[in-house]
Amino acid sequence: MTRPRQPAEPFRIKSVEPIKLLDRAAREEKIVEAHYNIFKIDAADIYIDLLTDSGTAAMSNRQWAALMMGDESYAGARSFRRFEEVVKGIFHKQFVIPCHQGRSAENMMFSTVVKPGQYVLNNTHFDTTRGNTQHKGGIAVDLPCPEVDAPVPLPFKGDMDTERLEKFIKEHGTDSIAMVIMTVTSNSVGGQPVSMKNIKKVSAICKKHNLPFFFDCARFAENCFFIRRDEPGYAEKSIREIAGEMFDACDGVMMSAKKDGLANIGGFIALNDEELYQKLTNLMILIEGFPTYGGLAGRDMEVLAVGLLEVMDLDYLSHRVDQVHYFGEVLKEAGMPIVEPTGGHAVFVDAGQFLPHIPPEQFPGQSLTVAFYVEGGIRIVEIGSLMFGGKDPVTGEKMTAPRELVRMALPRRVYTNSHLDYIGETAARIAAGKEMLRGYKISYQSPFLRHFTCKMEAIPEENVEVNS
Ligand SMILES: *Cc1c(COP(=O)(O)O)cnc(C)c1O
Repeated sequence: MTRPRQPAEPFRIKSVEPIKLLDRAAREEKIVEAHYNIFKIDAADIYIDLLTDSGTAAMSNRQWAALMMGDESYAGARSFRRFEEVVKGIFHKQFVIPCHQGRSAENMMFSTVVKPGQYVLNNTHFDTTRGNTQHKGGIAVDLPCPEVDAPVPLPFKGDMDTERLEKFIKEHGTDSIAMVIMTVTSNSVGGQPVSMKNIKKVSAICKKHNLPFFFDCARFAENCFFIRRDEPGYAEKSIREIAGEMFDACDGVMMSAKKDGLANIGGFIALNDEELYQKLTNLMILIEGFPTYGGLAGRDMEVLAVGLLEVMDLDYLSHRVDQVHYFGEVLKEAGMPIVEPTGGHAVFVDAGQFLPHIPPEQFPGQSLTVAFYVEGGIRIVEIGSLMFGGKDPVTGEKMTAPRELVRMALPRRVYTNSHLDYIGETAARIAAGKEMLRGYKISYQSPFLRHFTCKMEAIPEENVEVNS
């Protein structure tokens, strides 16, 4: 397969942050000290960090300039008015509530609208959305489309299953459902986009049954780009027009602005229902801050007001999506099986398929994660049986992950294609010696979200010389 032409960056570099590659002996020492858990390694000891695309974006010259314009007044700051105007313009909603990040928006929303025992329906809940729903006594139900795990590259694998949605409403009744949420792009299924057709269909179903329809729209601009590129009838529309059409279909949004806000912190709720707005702001004053800053500094709101507009730039977005695609091709060329199509923010490698000699109970994704650090100083994250397996903390049942994946998330505007080529070379070296990679076992774990803090040990393998 020929490599696609490298998408050249639509920006030049004005400020640089040095990064350092420790030598191999030091990397081996660090990973042992961390008990093979990459969450315990200091960022200073990482060369290329693909742990997340959240809050890791590089700001533009315009954002840095806007930061100096921050009005830090407690009430009615100029910075809030600017932020509010931008959000109203893009999301087409009357009321804007700033929050310090996405999960605080979720906390306030679910505290206000979810009654214990009620369902919240989603194409697929993101972890914090699921956690906040459950924390308020709600039941989080995922309704991904049937094609979501199809081994063929389809354009809108993030869609919601509308047949199941209608069936669910019929079976459980509207009173038992607190709200319907569309996550764009669908983070937990690999950043796969949702089509406008699906959004409108879900919207119509919600209207018919008088159910509130909200978006969890951390990556709205990336989703709009996929609609423009892959859905008939949108090629001539601007990202802003597509966003407007998308958000006209809903009652409100919750956004973690640490992704497509191109900012390092921030989030918000935007909605039209005045009564709900009042309830949310009452709670907000108790837990987040006054309604015109909501846990953010004035400068943060200035940065967001610029970032939310910049992220809709077509040159930026096409480079972003092409870079993720290019990265996927680089890894495939190095011999790693990836999940296709690549979504908007990360490439997922199928570690189970890549390392068939390591069974799921010995965490092949963990083995690959350690290999990328030791071989190249690169931090990636396991999304398999280490993250999702173990005992269910509530039911005590043994859980397994459907697939043993690792995620390589790309921070926005941070790494160049040379960095990606370096990762490709590292991947090729790992692939050449993959039979040497060993499984892991857990020596310590916590009852909740064990992957963040667990300690591990390599499983020694007899008759195999350890790669030095
Ligand atoms: C990141 C994310 C959140 C949570 O936002 P934070 O800013 O990390 O609290 C919620 N939903 C989706 C889809 C996300 O990607």
